[in-house]
Amino acid sequence: MKETIDGHARSVRSQIPLLTRELCGRPLVFLDNASTTPKPRSVIDAVVNYYERSTANVHRGVHSLGEEATRLFDDARREVAALIGASPGEVVLVRGTTEAINFVANGLELGPEDEVVFPASEHHANWIPWRVHGKPVPVPIDEDGVPRWETIEKLITSKTKLVSIGHVSNVTGAIAPVEEVVRIAKARGVPVLLDAAQSLSHLPLDVAKLGVDFLAASSHKAFGPSGVGILWSRKEFLAKCPLYQVGGGMISLNNDIDVGGFVPRDAPFKFEAGTPAIEATIGFGAAVKWMRAIGMDAIRQHDLAMSKYLFEGLSDIPGVRILAKKLPYEQRIALATFVVDAPAMTQESVARALCDMFGVCVSAGFHCTHVLHARAHLPGTVRASPHVYNTTEEIDVLLEGVREIAS
Ligand code: PMP
Repeated sequence: MKETIDGHARSVRSQIPLLTRELCGRPLVFLDNASTTPKPRSVIDAVVNYYERSTANVHRGVHSLGEEATRLFDDARREVAALIGASPGEVVLVRGTTEAINFVANGLELGPEDEVVFPASEHHANWIPWRVHGKPVPVPIDEDGVPRWETIEKLITSKTKLVSIGHVSNVTGAIAPVEEVVRIAKARGVPVLLDAAQSLSHLPLDVAKLGVDFLAASSHKAFGPSGVGILWSRKEFLAKCPLYQVGGGMISLNNDIDVGGFVPRDAPFKFEAGTPAIEATIGFGAAVKWMRAIGMDAIRQHDLAMSKYLFEGLSDIPGVRILAKKLPYEQRIALATFVVDAPAMTQESVARALCDMFGVCVSAGFHCTHVLHARAHLPGTVRASPHVYNTTEEIDVLLEGVREIAS
């Protein structure tokens, strides 16, 4: 197992400059990838290259730099589309998963009685929009925050306008049974939104195979820059989806004769008013290239072996409660959320101690999932989320730290 994990990890970690730094006099152990991932050299270079060599606006400039910037930008959209098996015209560039879900919430024009079914364990990005648009219908979850998927069928009624699920939970790491949910929703003619914030960089994705109607994801959790993400949907939806912001860059024709009369460009451009996050998008394209060069299947193999190593290691430590511990490895990614029973210490102070004493970066708190934590009766948790470049030695440092704090 160690060989599978470390073999993959060693070949890629040298490409990520952040990993060479020290923290509190110890080598940095970055285990906070579910929050955001560090950036490979090729992503940093792509951004810097745009600044140093090709700075210009896109889809506007008639000069060579404008053409270069536009080519890099359009290539990035193509690269991201290919990662999820989509056509570039169906990929709207937005600020991230949050904006993508809000885009759909707005686009569906939900009334107060229109219901949206989603697991109660969801990230606030896939919870709060349904409080504002439509009526939230949360799928019950167990005491560990795992959705009780068997209840979803009954919750879908004639009032349901959308089923919206996280592909991978940012707290338990559980992978949703997407095919099953799609089958149930489709039988009732209800579209499905997939929040792929946590899965885009962990699992091979193909929108056609998944059968979903919308996919939302962020670049920064997939080794790319922050400030950009995607909303994928089919051409038919994008053709009729109302515009939620308007301005420059999205107009095909505007005249001053017919008040209110303007002709927007086709999707996806009609949804991308204003100057986009050019350098971030170019970096996102480089990040996708980087992941595809490693191979999404190879990333998943590392993930499976890493899950086993991490969960077995944490399970051996007395005084540690791990959420969704019993889920089979095939149904989770390498992400462990746990509580360390240490007298007089909050989970935030556990995480702080891991950083200050061991150089380990993890998340602590509610991870934007208040309802899940309330259901689990926990005032906070610690989350360790490794990725393809992490080694077993780094997990050993985490385990040593948790063991020392728990004792
Ligand atoms: N959904 C999930 C499952 C997430 O983990 C996150 C980020 N933590 C989001 C949505 C929101 O992503 P962003 O902040 O990049 O918009």
